[in-house]
Amino acid sequence: ERFTIGLTGGIGSGKTTVANLFGELGASLVDTDAIAHALTAPEGLAIAPIRAHFGDEFIDARGAMDRARMRQHVFSHPNARHALEAILHPLIRSETVRQAEVATGSYVIFVVPLLVESGTWVGRASRILVVDCPEQVQVARVMQRNGLQRDEVEAIMAAQASRQARLAVADDVIDNGGDNAALPEQVNALHARYLALAGKA
Ligand code: ATP
Repeated sequence: ERFTIGLTGGIGSGKTTVANLFGELGASLVDTDAIAHALTAPEGLAIAPIRAHFGDEFIDARGAMDRARMRQHVFSHPNARHALEAILHPLIRSETVRQAEVATGSYVIFVVPLLVESGTWVGRASRILVVDCPEQVQVARVMQRNGLQRDEVEAIMAAQASRQARLAVADDVIDNGGDNAALPEQVNALHARYLALAGKA
């Protein structure tokens, strides 16, 4: 069995920032958000089944899924959300497996924003790494980055797992409640442990 890490964290917690630091050290990153995006881009494998199930009106002129329209549709139709997930999840899963198989890094990090929420991830990675920060720090970062109002960010966070739920499944935690400068030392220490666990040290 290949040594793999499932990296997660709430919106704005710093998943991408932390994943990139591991990448610089030689880990291979498999980004499930990027995979989902590619599947629903023009020529993506999910386009034909989405068109067949939802109709042409959910495919835009470029041949991509109309994200805004789909988001609005599934927001008010839980069955449609389940149908979309039934199309996407198996495709995301097989593509993450494929990318992990061809990865050449010293170990693989799956970056999975909704790892705790989706349930199917626990057990698929050798260890779960949570990027943690206080909720008020998340709110401030996302307001700043995305130009959103406080209540808009809080609504997104309310639909995600709680900080406690994430920490409860964590094997390892990176504290990103402070300065960016506090990250490399934590990442380097975990990388050394992961190399050892992967049999690469
Ligand atoms: P999302 O789930 O929204 O994609 P994420 O968890 O991948 O977010 P990042 O994109 O890494 O998080 O970080 C969110 C924002 O906060 C970015 O604008 C990033 O530059 C900033 N940020 C990350 N870590 C820190 C830090 N320690 N101090 C200040 N700003 C930070």
